[in-house]
Amino acid sequence: MTPVVELREVTKTYPGGVTALDAVSVTVGKGELMAIAGPSGSGKSTMLHLLGTLDRPSTGTVLVEGRDASSMSDRRLSALRARRIGFVFQQFHLAAGVSALDNVADGLLYGGVPLAQRRRRARRALESVGLGHRLGHRPHQLSGGEKQRVAIARAVVGEPALLLADEPTGALDSASGAGVLGLLHELAGGGTTVVLITHDRDIAAAMPRQVRMRDGRIVHDDAGLEAAR
Ligand code: ADP
Repeated sequence: MTPVVELREVTKTYPGGVTALDAVSVTVGKGELMAIAGPSGSGKSTMLHLLGTLDRPSTGTVLVEGRDASSMSDRRLSALRARRIGFVFQQFHLAAGVSALDNVADGLLYGGVPLAQRRRRARRALESVGLGHRLGHRPHQLSGGEKQRVAIARAVVGEPALLLADEPTGALDSASGAGVLGLLHELAGGGTTVVLITHDRDIAAAMPRQVRMRDGRIVHDDAGLEAAR
């Protein structure tokens, strides 16, 4: 397994003294699709933020494609995130009044790709999520499921190694949710590493790998089972 992201003995203590992650170690390989599950307050969001280098550990090491993110400057970390990590959120976070095509093209703003090329790649990304017929639609003209597909297209248009999704189906009806999960499966099948947070036990159980959190610790990880197969 080629590791894409790895936490080594990572502890995160917030000001005020809450230990949100307590010496957590986890390695996620290329093309894995992993759910982080657990009750509210168990440390899921903190773990996702650390995997995505949005936050730094109090102690321990975060490695992205073998590179030690914990020791990088903020500037290098932003560059690493922009090039290698995509993010998707429950509430889509699309720019209002901006077409689906340009919402996705904006995912390539980092790195100075010229506009025409950004739009060409955005169109391809939208076609790959089944939205080739919605390029000019603005977010308010799209259903929830379509909005999340646009958000996923934006997150992957730069071909990141790692896609992190925080409750990506939390705001969707079950049919659109199933569509979005199918898309995440496809992305993982194509080699993108996908990690998502979910409160939904059925969704977590249906993932190839499930990590369950409680009180800042991993209390279950299918990884060992996966390796034994
Ligand atoms: P989950 O995503 O599983 O609900 P979180 O990672 O958000 O859990 O939170 C884990 C613990 O850390 C909780 O006790 C929460 O209150 C605390 N926490 C999260 N973010 C902060 C913060 N910015 N400052 C202080 N405490 C925080």
